[in-house]
Amino acid sequence: MNQLAYNKIETHDLAQAVRSTCPYCGVGCGVLISSDDTGWHVQGDPDHPANRGQLCVKGTNLMQTLSMHTRLIEPLQGQAAARQPIGWTQAIDQIATRFQACIDQYGADSIAFYVSGQLLTEDYYVVNKFVKGALGTANIDTNSRLCMSSAVAAHKRAFGEDVVIGQYEDLEQADVVILVGSNTAWCHPVLFQRLMQAKAERPALQIVVVDPRYTSTCEQADLHVAVLPGQDVALFNGLFQYLYQHDVIDHNFVNQHTTGLDALLEATQAQANIIDVARQCGLSHQFLTHFYQLFAQHDKVVTLFSMGVNQSSQGTDKANSIINCHLLTGRLIGRGMGAFSMTGQPNAMGGREVGGLSNMLAAHLELENPQHQTLVQTFWQTSQIATQTGLKAVELFEAVEQGKIKALWIMATNPVVSLPNSDQVKRALDQCPFVVVSEVCQETDTTQYADLLLPAQAWGEKDGTVTNSERYISRQRQFLTCSPSIQPDWWAVAQVAQAMGYQGFDFNSSFDIFMEHARLSAYANVPSQRRTPSTVFRCFNLDGLTTLSSTQYDDLSPIQWPVYSASESKVAYNGTSKPDASSINAAQFCHQPAKPYQDYRFTHHDEKARFIATYAQSPVYELTSEYPLILNTGRVRDQWHTMTRTGLSAHLALHRSQPYCEMHPLDALKYGIHKDDLVEVRSAWGRCIVRAHFIDTIRRGQVFVPIHWNDQNASDARVGALVNPVVDPISGEPEFKHTPVSIQPFYGRWHAVLFVAQDLAIRPEQLHHVFTWWVKIAAADATRIEVVGRLPVNSVLTALADLLPDAFDEDVEWLDYQDAQLDIVHLIVLRRGKLVAAFYLAPKDLLPQRDWIAPLFTRQRLSALHRRSLLAGVPMTSVAYEGPIVCSCFKVGQHRIVDAIKLHQWTDEKQVTACLKAGGNCGSCLPEIRGLIRQCQIQN
Ligand code: SF4
Repeated sequence: MNQLAYNKIETHDLAQAVRSTCPYCGVGCGVLISSDDTGWHVQGDPDHPANRGQLCVKGTNLMQTLSMHTRLIEPLQGQAAARQPIGWTQAIDQIATRFQACIDQYGADSIAFYVSGQLLTEDYYVVNKFVKGALGTANIDTNSRLCMSSAVAAHKRAFGEDVVIGQYEDLEQADVVILVGSNTAWCHPVLFQRLMQAKAERPALQIVVVDPRYTSTCEQADLHVAVLPGQDVALFNGLFQYLYQHDVIDHNFVNQHTTGLDALLEATQAQANIIDVARQCGLSHQFLTHFYQLFAQHDKVVTLFSMGVNQSSQGTDKANSIINCHLLTGRLIGRGMGAFSMTGQPNAMGGREVGGLSNMLAAHLELENPQHQTLVQTFWQTSQIATQTGLKAVELFEAVEQGKIKALWIMATNPVVSLPNSDQVKRALDQCPFVVVSEVCQETDTTQYADLLLPAQAWGEKDGTVTNSERYISRQRQFLTCSPSIQPDWWAVAQVAQAMGYQGFDFNSSFDIFMEHARLSAYANVPSQRRTPSTVFRCFNLDGLTTLSSTQYDDLSPIQWPVYSASESKVAYNGTSKPDASSINAAQFCHQPAKPYQDYRFTHHDEKARFIATYAQSPVYELTSEYPLILNTGRVRDQWHTMTRTGLSAHLALHRSQPYCEMHPLDALKYGIHKDDLVEVRSAWGRCIVRAHFIDTIRRGQVFVPIHWNDQNASDARVGALVNPVVDPISGEPEFKHTPVSIQPFYGRWHAVLFVAQDLAIRPEQLHHVFTWWVKIAAADATRIEVVGRLPVNSVLTALADLLPDAFDEDVEWLDYQDAQLDIVHLIVLRRGKLVAAFYLAPKDLLPQRDWIAPLFTRQRLSALHRRSLLAGVPMTSVAYEGPIVCSCFKVGQHRIVDAIKLHQWTDEKQVTACLKAGGNCGSCLPEIRGLIRQCQIQN
């Protein structure tokens, strides 16, 4: 365990609490951080427009992730097993020298960067300027490629610029909200709670979920459109035809502000007959008609789409097929209507603003447009600028494996876990001559392959800005620090740039960078009313922020772009809405948001939006007899990305503690799988081994595996290894939702659970040595490791001696109980009377309940009763088993909730909350509680 401790930063004292932003999803909730004698505390910021004081369970438990455990605190060089510390000066010099050698020998395109939507806008800006404006290559891509690049491409095609027109209030003001490919209840929980609140106040609001999978979001929807996987274009082309045939058209808007209608009508001919569309989508004709009528009959319709749309070999067309319907009906700009793309990451939008993708230039300018190149090059005063699209994420790592990339710098992301075909990423990194990784944690699946590791700031240490899904720019503020050798990512990049002799990188603070970013957004840019051939209009414009002082930047309240200066504001908003940025005030900006394109003058040179001809196609890989099931992947409620942070929280581990595969019980029967068995899921690209979960709401023939588990916390649960590497031809976004797979039981000789004290660090390779399968789970006072083994039972104790404290150390006591006939082994290890390990091997049903064991690790000395209890594997006082935890905030399990629902005949989740508290804090579990009520009603 690292001995460093956090120090509080005293520089920001905003009414005694520091205002910052949650670092997880694209909702971008504001948080208030305070501390007292009992430690750090987080609560929702009531003044933040995104969440108005609410937080979900991930945000609520943010402070549990502020761990020094596994922190990287100084630059390290060398291979994983033998890393040596080096100073920053040496590290910077090494990168600059290696990069220059690559340029001299192979050209600038031999260098690549893979960055992240976790970066702050300031970090993102500097690295993008360095790569595109100094090195002169566009080989920089970001993990945002994996979550929303299809939406970016669709916006560009439709509007001429990547503009998310919608805002959260639209969902509250709409009459119909259609959530497409979005498990909003789990992935954007606070936004979902806002929607639920609106529904409670106005029950007529209709909520429709379009998703092949029945998710928690469906529990509170009025309609679940269970479209067949990959058929979204057919569904929305069919809707387009239905609207056209029934004359649900805003003729004025279409005639004056759009082009491309005829081509789209031609393209959608295959969906002109609703009966054919219903068959193609796997829906009944009557049901589909009902859905189409719902859209047709309401002016205020919002269609919110997310990863289920974007992560597809047809992701861009899917997004455009949705936008087409809103263009036809003119339901785009007004309040309570529009096509709204939700981003997954906290600063995916900031990355888009600075051109973080390999096919974009900074400030919403186009990489391959000579006029835009000149504009940026003039502003940056550089001698060269990238002029051709660089490598997109999947092809970038393919190029690394092919030896075309000689040096790679990865920042704030874990591609060995998150990319499709992720074993290929391992091979690529393994043979890349020079890999630099900037990271917070020393041990991730990706840092294993680094030649040089750079310590990065974690949330709470960073200082800068992020932009959420509705274009609000919010400050992320530093409130603690742990080591002077941990530096901002922008600083490391600027140091390398200067060491290589490039000008324009003498930034002293995130404020300096933000100012340059704001000035570039306004450079040769004006409100659309004053567009001329010599201007390069972009809706993204921060002109009003270019005059901020450093203090105003420090105190900046959330502000939604575009932000015009006082004089331009009069032009853009007829002098009504937007105040002057010099008088920045949260209330003014937060409560008077204006949607872009109010004047219907889109960014395309002719100012018209485009209908895009979209053609329904099947996913690239069809099912085969060898791989007869469709694998869908996604998030779970309480974890984030590759668990490097949320995996540290015992609270967050309660909800879904082990990696799993959801399948229909009849599919399980077909393939000989029992409940909670281990199951091997295999595709043409890789395999993983996870627990079988049965749910009867999933369609037969489909399985779902979450994305979060990695090689540091599980032996075989990286689902990215299975996912096919096919990408959308326009956006380059991979097809995470449709990979043909097979499933089969995975057998071990025995099951066991091992608890070890938190300071007893056991490395994955040690676990591999003893166990066939394992998963590490954060517990409050110990680490819990669920294992399956194949060693003969009588040799397990010997094997455990390699993992646990030396049996012959006189301070250590080993207590064991064995029953050879029943294959039972219980082992308790104490050091000077304090518990350091407990191991239970037994038939699955005879293993002890887990929840009472970890707290015993906090006792300085165990009593004789405790010892007997541990050795027997039975708690001293009997406590009813909660079952899987549903409400993480109050630790209320499924068994308790179901028993109470059945006993009291409850029909409403409010009754559960009133009596059991479950759902009464962040509300993230309310959809699951509703699902339990529904299941109980079915059983009755
Ligand atoms: Fe964070 Fe939850 Fe808000 Fe997302 S919804 S920003 S995870 S608190």
